[in-house]
Amino acid sequence: MKLFNLFLLLILSIFSSVTYTESQHNQVIIVGAGIAGLGAAKELHDSGYSVTVLEASERIGGRIYTDRSLGFPVERGANWIHSNKLDSNRLMGLKDQLNIKTNITPLSPMGFQLFNKDGDSVSLTEAEFNKIDTRIGLAAYAASFFLPSSTLKDIIDSLRNMGLLSFAPNVVLQAYLQNIELSAAEDIEKLPIGALIAEAEYMEIAGEDEEVFGGFDQFTNHLSQGLDIRLNNPVTKIDYSSDRVDVYVKDIKYSADAVIVTVPLGVLQQGMIKFLPELTSAKQEAINGINWGNVNKVVFQFPYNFWGESKNIFIEREDRHAFTTWLSNEVISGKPILYSFYSGDFSRAMEDQPDEFIIEKAMNSLRSAYGQEIPNPENYLITRWGKEPYILGSYSSAGHNQDDEKLRTELGRPLVNKVFFAGEATSLDEYGFAHAALFTGLREAEKIKVIYP
Ligand SMILES: Cc1cc2nc3c(=O)[nH]c(=O)nc-3n(C[C@H](O)[C@H](O)[C@H](O)COP(=O)(O)OP(=O)(O)OC[C@H]3O[C@@H](n4cnc5c(N)ncnc54)[C@H](O)[C@@H]3O)c2cc1C
Repeated sequence: MKLFNLFLLLILSIFSSVTYTESQHNQVIIVGAGIAGLGAAKELHDSGYSVTVLEASERIGGRIYTDRSLGFPVERGANWIHSNKLDSNRLMGLKDQLNIKTNITPLSPMGFQLFNKDGDSVSLTEAEFNKIDTRIGLAAYAASFFLPSSTLKDIIDSLRNMGLLSFAPNVVLQAYLQNIELSAAEDIEKLPIGALIAEAEYMEIAGEDEEVFGGFDQFTNHLSQGLDIRLNNPVTKIDYSSDRVDVYVKDIKYSADAVIVTVPLGVLQQGMIKFLPELTSAKQEAINGINWGNVNKVVFQFPYNFWGESKNIFIEREDRHAFTTWLSNEVISGKPILYSFYSGDFSRAMEDQPDEFIIEKAMNSLRSAYGQEIPNPENYLITRWGKEPYILGSYSSAGHNQDDEKLRTELGRPLVNKVFFAGEATSLDEYGFAHAALFTGLREAEKIKVIYP
């Protein structure tokens, strides 16, 4: 009898310890199947955790979205692996592991073919470019001491008033500014000089940009393999008031020991996920305080190439933002494709316009440089990232008069070591980039591995 009791006790204790391990330490829910969420999920899954990924939309990848509807891969979202020399760039390691082929594509205006307002081709010398870069850089650096709340627009206006930018044709300056605006997803009126200086320092060490053959989604597809991913599962509430965290998709409740929230900043700003207890005011201020930028693309497939060998083109227009930057996708897709990037308020405004309006305006820009006789596109794609119901914008950027590092540190701070935050906006110094998003997912996975070993 005694022996039987002992045996029963042993069985029970083994059983309860298994239950305890599984339910108390090993279950993690990841909210969002972008590269941050998938990176975190794969890392935890491979380390033995039981991981469920809840994704609101009907596909994985988030802002990595390779569209194959034209019969070949076209990137609606991320195009380039940026900063290929940084050790923190985990995409470079994945690229080698997956044997993904890339093409190095310099994005500096130095390599652009420029057209002025009259449609004349303007050549930009390296000396001219460096002079603009140095003058703006020096002025920004000086202003960071004396007028730290200045915007990039303030600096440009001052330099112009002093005649210090008049040595170069206007198109050169416009191309220079639009290049910054595209990478920041915001207009120079809203860009702080501090961010400009930080960006210049970053560019010194970052390396080059690489376009991917065969689709950027090769990264996210690889990371998703073997994972339990539930599509069409928009999380509406996260209750972390008790021992475990309850995650609600409408009325369905999922429970876990820990949760990693990787949804875009725009989704948090709109309060689409309710937190219980409510977020602290510091967290809410961080969510509201970080700038949420906007970038879109119009992609044209033409019957033939009329732009020659040019890889990057800038066409000066009345409005610097109106379909001025064009990139050829011919090397990557093998098709005569040009696409335009546009940013900031212009990009936001275009999201409300019908396709025909955008096509007409974009074609007018191309015609002003290449003539009226160029062909109409055979196919097109237009993105409206701000209207994607679970994205609501493009990527976070440096905002005017905000202490970015403080806000992003707060955004990434876990709630009582149960609810963790990842995603590009939580990166302190590389926000906006896909490789940074992946890094933040791995960062939070490591925290969970320490707290829930
Ligand atoms: C037009 C454009 C061009 C870009 N170009 C580049 C580039 O060339 N190089 C580069 O490095 N980066 C680029 N980026 C930025 C890059 O794509 C992003 O930084 C990166 O993909 C963000 O990954 P993430 O995992 O943080 O977020 P996301 O990819 O946005 O993933 C978040 C996921 O959460 C899901 N979600 C939202 N709400 C909920 C909810 N309530 N419940 C469940 N799931 C939810 C979303 O559907 C999404 O799938 C570009 C972005 C855009 C828009």
